[in-house]
Amino acid sequence: MKIGFCTLGCKVNQYETEAIKEKFSINGWEIKDFNEECDAYLINTCSVTSLSDRKSRQMIRRAHEKNKNAIIAVCGCYAQVSPEEIEKIEGVNIVIGTTDKLKAYELINEAVNKNIVRPLTNKESYEDMEITLFDSKTRAIIKVQDGCNNFCSYCIIPYARGRIRSRNPKKVYNECQKLSENGFLEVVLSGIHVCSYGRDLENFTLCDLLYKIHSIDIKRIRLSSIEPNAFNDDFFNMLKELNKICHHFHISLQSGCDETLKRMNRKYNSSFYKGICNRLIEEFPDTAITTDVIVGFPGETEEEFNKTVEFIKSIPFYKIHTFKYSVREGTVAANMPDQIPPDVKEKRSKIIIDISNEKQKEFERKYVGKTVEILVENKNKNGYYMGHTSNYIPVFVKSENNICDTLIKVEIKEYKNNMLIGKTAEDF
Ligand code: SF4
Repeated sequence: MKIGFCTLGCKVNQYETEAIKEKFSINGWEIKDFNEECDAYLINTCSVTSLSDRKSRQMIRRAHEKNKNAIIAVCGCYAQVSPEEIEKIEGVNIVIGTTDKLKAYELINEAVNKNIVRPLTNKESYEDMEITLFDSKTRAIIKVQDGCNNFCSYCIIPYARGRIRSRNPKKVYNECQKLSENGFLEVVLSGIHVCSYGRDLENFTLCDLLYKIHSIDIKRIRLSSIEPNAFNDDFFNMLKELNKICHHFHISLQSGCDETLKRMNRKYNSSFYKGICNRLIEEFPDTAITTDVIVGFPGETEEEFNKTVEFIKSIPFYKIHTFKYSVREGTVAANMPDQIPPDVKEKRSKIIIDISNEKQKEFERKYVGKTVEILVENKNKNGYYMGHTSNYIPVFVKSENNICDTLIKVEIKEYKNNMLIGKTAEDF
């Protein structure tokens, strides 16, 4: 039997798809490209914006077009918050939601035997999954946490994923250990709200988890998106002591205007955020900070937007991802007055994108002449190998040898066509 997978959205979804995939694979199913004709398809959806919902629906329809008789199972956030919308799409047999995703294996097998089922549950315990392999051996994502208690006023995720649940630290350690034995050099700890890891455990924090994993023979430990409130003194002390933690931090800002942040129900203000960035750069000068900014949040006046623009200009960000605010039914912001027209959101988004592009170039140019270590991930069609530095800057090199999945030293020679190009040590 053949099955195709499609994953939309965040690293947590990527991890969960890999875990489900592994279950099918070890039980004899052939894992095929999503665009091939398969006996079954699994679409792991996202609902963070209305665009994510649309893409999720498109992928479900694409699967049905590929094979009208295939079993189609849909899981993930969109399936959890809008199951009735998904059930209406032609060809859908199974709607799973965000919990019990691992049951996809049994449910698809049952459906193949014509017992078609639609279980949608909303459990509040951590659903344990495990992966030992990924498609590439460079970097493995490990899910350590699920859910969020923050209820930012624009966000549907706490409704889709439920309250915070931390994964058992021993299980995280064992999974990292296995991935290391299987040759992975880098792990990325991911979750819906990683910095809340441990709040539901007794006397065990995110820092404790990082100390534990650090003892494993793995070269790099990366944190996926992290909230500003994670950066307390313990966290800074941990960063000083653990040299495998990558100095790339994606710290969600969302707005640089305090009034907007308040309406968003974010739990910090702009000066707190700035203080963290300054301290990070002062204590770890190689730090690369990236962030997310939402434009066109309800009630965002020109003055408020300009405050965000001035604020982001004042922080040496590496990159800024911008999102146009999108109404998510069921959230507080969906019913707020003064919704912003699409053309204004578009204009504001473009301004932020332009600032981000400039910042990215400025940041990357500074690397010319430096020697860095990169983890090589792939080779592009122009014959360049590409790898990321520990602080997640992409660097391109040519080599006679196959250097994929290795850590190598590279001297950066030039910045051309928005690419940092270097020479490997063997060519020095
Ligand atoms: Fe959503 Fe806010 Fe929780 Fe992030 S912190 S998942 S934006 S509610």
